[in-house]
Amino acid sequence: MTNHEPTPPERTYITLDDARALECNGCGDCCDSRRTDGYWTWGTLPPDQFASLNNGQPLIIPLERAPSPEGSPPSDDAGLSADGWRNRSHDQADELELHPTRFRCAAFLPQPDGRGLCGNHDRPRPDRCGEYPVRMPHIETELAEVGEVALNTSAFPNCTWHRMTLVPNHDPRLAKPAPPTD
Ligand code: SF4
Ligand code: SF4
Repeated sequence: MTNHEPTPPERTYITLDDARALECNGCGDCCDSRRTDGYWTWGTLPPDQFASLNNGQPLIIPLERAPSPEGSPPSDDAGLSADGWRNRSHDQADELELHPTRFRCAAFLPQPDGRGLCGNHDRPRPDRCGEYPVRMPHIETELAEVGEVALNTSAFPNCTWHRMTLVPNHDPRLAKPAPPTD
């Protein structure tokens, strides 16, 4: 029997310093749950939805699936989208760290080439916007304790850090690509 499943690309091993020297390419896929069909979510969303960072208007807006009314044009203003999502109110569960809040961001600027830029890039933003994926608070500790950190970027094939694993300096895996692990 032949396995016709596509082989996933190999992981890249990289040091934390080298990973941090890379730049976000603005693919935008981590800024809106709809770009991963709801896979990518926000955790710990405060009740004000970061309005304090967005001129008093909610910045991160929870979404839920909803069929678009027939003939209705896509419109974030109406809370509806052609792909079957709509705005919903914040609820208490959204404040939990592990609660998967599907979201869109009011500062997100979709580009004609498919990328998506941050309209608040030069302004204060939620911490995680600047931390993801190589400046998360746990990374140094996890790298020291475990000896590697597989970045949580598998859902984003266009991401600068897609399928990268952080390893310590002088790790022998830095010299060669690893076999696929998933
Ligand atoms: S503030 Fe900018 S980086 Fe953060 S989710 Fe919105 S668009 Fe993305
Ligand atoms: S998925 Fe990666 S490259 Fe794309 S916007 Fe997010 S951090 Fe940047």
